[in-house]
Amino acid sequence: MPARSRILLVEDNEQNMELASFLLEEAGFEVVPAAGVDEARRALAERPPDLILMDMDLGGADGLSLVAELRRQGPRLPILALTAHAMRGDRERFLAGGCDGYIAKPIDTRSFASEVRRHLAPPGGGPG
Ligand code: MN
Repeated sequence: MPARSRILLVEDNEQNMELASFLLEEAGFEVVPAAGVDEARRALAERPPDLILMDMDLGGADGLSLVAELRRQGPRLPILALTAHAMRGDRERFLAGGCDGYIAKPIDTRSFASEVRRHLAPPGGGPG
């Protein structure tokens, strides 16, 4: 059996964390929860995930600053912004800030896991 893809889920809202974890685990992912920037840093240092789901509002801390920090460090991991922001220009701001994609909250429970899967590298890599 192939190893399950590990998702680092950075989310400070307990209910969002519960729902997202449930959906990801149900889809077969391994979820590493982090309730804030410090927890996320510790988790990243411990064991790099295959993908990061990053809430953009972390109770005073800005998710995008952590994304910028990670992009300076490399290696490149897929990072998806998870955010309730739906203002015009936000998507562009997150993508310009180093995110590979954007998932709007409230989460669409039917498409959430497949949207995450779409951004994971295929197993074993491949050309290009
Ligand atoms: Mn939040």
